[in-house]
Amino acid sequence: MYDPKSTKAEEFIDHEEILETIAYAQRVKDDRNAVDSILSKAREQKGLNHREASVLLACDDPEKVREIFDLAYQIKQEFYGNRIVLFAPLYLSNYCVNGCRYCPYHYGSGMARKKLTQEEIYAETVALQDMGHKRLAVESGEDPVNNPIEYILESLGTIYGVKHKNGAIRRVNVNIAGTTVENYRKLRDAGIGTYILFQETYHKAGYEQLHPKGPKHNYAYHTEAMDRAMDGGIDDVGLGVLFGLENYAYEFAGQLMHAEHLEALHGVGPHTISVPRVKPAQGVDPGSFEGGISDELFEKLAACIRIAVPYTGMIISTREGRKVREKMLRSGVSQISGASRTSVGGYAEGGDVNGAEPDDDTRQFEVSDTRTLDEVIRWLIDSGYVPSFCTACYREGRTGDRFMELCKRKQILNCCHPNALMTLKEYLVDYASSPTRDAGDKLIARELDHIPKEKVRDLVRKNLVNIEHGQRDFRL
Ligand code: SAM
Repeated sequence: MYDPKSTKAEEFIDHEEILETIAYAQRVKDDRNAVDSILSKAREQKGLNHREASVLLACDDPEKVREIFDLAYQIKQEFYGNRIVLFAPLYLSNYCVNGCRYCPYHYGSGMARKKLTQEEIYAETVALQDMGHKRLAVESGEDPVNNPIEYILESLGTIYGVKHKNGAIRRVNVNIAGTTVENYRKLRDAGIGTYILFQETYHKAGYEQLHPKGPKHNYAYHTEAMDRAMDGGIDDVGLGVLFGLENYAYEFAGQLMHAEHLEALHGVGPHTISVPRVKPAQGVDPGSFEGGISDELFEKLAACIRIAVPYTGMIISTREGRKVREKMLRSGVSQISGASRTSVGGYAEGGDVNGAEPDDDTRQFEVSDTRTLDEVIRWLIDSGYVPSFCTACYREGRTGDRFMELCKRKQILNCCHPNALMTLKEYLVDYASSPTRDAGDKLIARELDHIPKEKVRDLVRKNLVNIEHGQRDFRL
């Protein structure tokens, strides 16, 4: 029986409710009045429920589809402005006891196994700082013997402790397997940013086939992980479906039901939603799964998520190439990774000029966007976006509902926008090539005028000069 407030996975992600939602969306999608009334509700920018949003996803009237994309863009601009937050993944270990069929890390895959020592993590962090990164997502396979929680905690301490030149990692998000409330509490105490866990698929039967062994086989334990994380005091959690495995309409409804459940039970929805698609990897052919989706459909999914959950950040990784990422930025994405390596130890080991990773034997999947961080920053600037290395909200305690409040009140322009400009300035001074620095300085000069409050504008001007003179880490 469907119950968003239930603590049981099969009740808040109710299979029958998802099937009925898909059938309802098919029935209503050609009814212009119904679609128009959902679109007018969406224009109030307070979000849509899974049924309403599923109708928009199913709708294929070209005029209405245009309206969906336009609205997604407008919502993104109003809540997030033209800021794009940058991050990079850091792979700690590919030891794994699970059997995920789409992941080359699965137990018995024959892949070379590697776990970074604390010295190697230090070296990876230095290499990431030298690119200009301030925010990381730590990734690890699940293996209680090789990667216990103590190893993750020690690694977080190492990463946060690296003080190299003007660099600093100021926020570490963590993407590790579902764990206990006690362990989530330890992660919270270690100062993590968002706890990220991809659901992979909400379809229980498909999930069990895709995860034939290991602790991850347990659908309920995995699906209820975000509740345990929140019970352990983690305010910001990040959801994600691995698109390309199962039916996208099912996943879309399931993911929104998950968001509704978090809101109903904990009073705050997901901080982020990632939109990964399954990619080729050692022994993994994305064509062998039934749920493959075109780029166009992928972009529409993102636009409909943007409309349904306006206050949730959306993330796209370098799994996607430049063209798709460009479109996704317009459809509502607010965070992207840059210059990523998906192998264990891939940053410190270097690589070739074409972006190929040095130690391909431990690489998780093929990266499509292989540009350097400087190239990604330049591309964002040239496309009219403000690249941001800001981590202020979480460091100022604006997490969970406090961040959502800021976002709902559309205070981003007075707070996140100035922080974006100041952290971009740090990047330009410390790491950028000279053409990127020129383009960035011009962008900052233009964007300063968009800060509504004069007092804030003056403070930012002063801080920008201080950054030129060597001071760092200003934030509002
Ligand atoms: N081990 C943790 C877990 O089980 O949730 C998280 C770390 S795993 C390195 C991060 C994510 O990579 C997985 O949740 C999965 O969605 C994604 N992934 C695995 N194989 C992939 C592939 N072939 N293409 C794209 N993404 C993949």
